[in-house]
Order: sequence, then C-alpha cells, then structure tokens
Amino acid sequence: MADLLASVEEKRRVFLEELKTAEEKASSPTGLPPVDVRALHVRWLGQKQGVVTELLAGLRTLSKEDKAPAGAAINRLKNDVEAALSSLEEKSLLFERLRKQQALAVDVTLPPRAPRVGRLHPLTVVRRRIESAFASLGYEVAEGPEVESDWLNFEALNFPPDHPARDAVDTFFVKGGGEGKDRLLLRTHTSPVQIRTMLAQKPPIRIVIPGRVYRKDDIDPRHSPVFHQMEGLTVDEGVTFANLKGTLAAFSRLLFTPETKIRFGPTFFPFVEPGVDVAVSCVFCSGTGAADGATCRPCSGSGWIEIMGAGMVHPNVLRNGGIDPEKYSGFAFGMGIDRIAFLLYGVPDLRLFFENDVRFLDRVWS
Ligand SMILES: [Zn+2]
Repeated sequence: MADLLASVEEKRRVFLEELKTAEEKASSPTGLPPVDVRALHVRWLGQKQGVVTELLAGLRTLSKEDKAPAGAAINRLKNDVEAALSSLEEKSLLFERLRKQQALAVDVTLPPRAPRVGRLHPLTVVRRRIESAFASLGYEVAEGPEVESDWLNFEALNFPPDHPARDAVDTFFVKGGGEGKDRLLLRTHTSPVQIRTMLAQKPPIRIVIPGRVYRKDDIDPRHSPVFHQMEGLTVDEGVTFANLKGTLAAFSRLLFTPETKIRFGPTFFPFVEPGVDVAVSCVFCSGTGAADGATCRPCSGSGWIEIMGAGMVHPNVLRNGGIDPEKYSGFAFGMGIDRIAFLLYGVPDLRLFFENDVRFLDRVWS
C-alpha cells in the first residue's frame, strides 16, 4: 500500500516535469504540435497502457481497507492529469493564434518606405530659369496684383478707352461699373507692374515681372483663359534700341544655347514705339528649317520661332509712370512662360500644364 502511494507521487512528479517541458514548447516560436498533446494523453490516460490505467490495475493486489485511500490518491492524480492536459491544449492553441497574428503584423524593425516627394511644376522651373538669366544681367524681380484697375491695365499703357487694340486682349471684369481707376478687371498682362514700379521708384529701373494673366480665350492646345507671362522693363538715361537688342540676344543665349540668334520684325503694341516681334533661331532644327530630312514643324521650315514682343517704351507710358521722356528712355519686352516651356521641353499642348496629370508632372524638369 505504501509502495503504491509512493509510486503515485513519483508518477505525479514525472508528469509535472513532462507538462512543464510541453508548456515551454507551446510558448516557443515553433509551438507545440497537437499531435504531441495527444501523445501525452495516450501515455498518461490511455485505456490500454496509460500510466494512470496501470496504477488503477495495481489496486487489485491491495486489501479491502487499503483500496479506498489508494484509489482516492490515483483518482486525484487522474483528475489532475486530465485538467492539466486540457489546459495545455487550450494554451497551445492560444499561442498558435498569437504566432499567426504576429506574422501578419507590421515589422517595425524594417526600414520605412520612401515617402512620395513632390517636384516643382514645370512652369515654376521655367520661370526661375528666365529670372536667373535676367538676374545675371542685373535685373530684379517685381510682382503685382492679378486684379487691376482699367487705368493701370489699359489707359496708363496707352490703350485709350475705345482703342481697337483692347479687343485683342478682352478680359474678365471684376467690377464693371465706372471707368479708369474705378473699373476692376483681371489683368491681361503683367504690364501694369511697369507703371506701379515707375510710380514707386526713380530710374535706373531694371525689372522682370513674372505672373499669371487672364484673357477671354477659349481653351485649345495653344490658348487658355489663364496663362503666365514674364515681362521686362528698363528705364534709364540714354537707353537705346541697341541696348534692347543686346539684352535680348544675351538672354536668348543664356536660356537656350550659346549659338542662339535673334531676329526682330516690325509690329505694333500701343505701349511701345517702335514695336518688334522677337524670334529666336529654332531650337528644334538649330535654325536650318529641316529636321530628320523633313520640314521642321515647330518653325514651319523657317528656322525661326517667335518668342516675345518688345519695343522702346512709348513716351505716354513714361509720362503716366511719372517719368520725364525728355530725360529718360527705356525698353520693355514680354513673353509667355508657357511658350518658353514648349521651346525648352517640347511640351506642345498648353493644357498639360493645368490638368495636374501626375504622369506629366512627375517628369524631371530642369
Ligand atoms: Zn525648326
């Protein structure tokens, strides 16, 4: 009897050791396979050769008085083993679930994905290139509001109220009533800043004026109701037409290539006298008029592409800016930033600049 009770305690000790090993395996990264739990079950509680079953079989050799306490001890062991194995099975499944969740979770030790970085808009890149070319020639950048008075946008620039030149630059009126300084509109060019600058500072004046401008144009590949201009103004004593040509020739060589040539053709703008259309030798065919054995399309085979208007500042404009035309003279020029972008990057359709298509904007512009 004492032998059997000692044997029950010995079996309990062995079981607790095996249980401890199994529990450690269940919480390890590899886990405890269900087949191992079943094996423990068979080994301890199996109907044929289970350890507890064999202990129960040993009761037969005991006397009647000894059977009851020995049977109670074996049953306690049996109940404890059953409860412990049931608990082990639950723990094993719980650890298995945790391992699966961890496999799906974010690994915080991995290096982060690179964030998407924005770029400068191509028109901003072109504006900066033009500004920096003129900055190297001694020009400063001046800016002004997009809503202007009729007087600053037209009259001060020598467009009288009924002048036919106004039709070419019809615009949007913000405050239609009244005339002159009371009538507000979206500026049709950045030229009002010329007047603003002349009224605010004495010559010498050397400025370039970038900005957004508006006209009542329908949208097509070459027109938009909103586009971008870069104007320039020089006013000083003794400024001549030769200075105008030299400045624009230097600018064209800086912006395009050192071989770029310029050509002047006569034209009319109300705020200059005389006025010229300025063309540069075609950047697509190097001025030859032919590309890949065919007529160069951007310049229609002429070898020249018009990029801006220019001229000597009209005496009326100088007077409206508070500058004496007997003492001072000046020249002005203006170009479309969007058009320069076409020449630099070959972007043939103005609409691409405004549609915000990432496939277009994501290109490297420099
Ligand atoms: Zn060409």
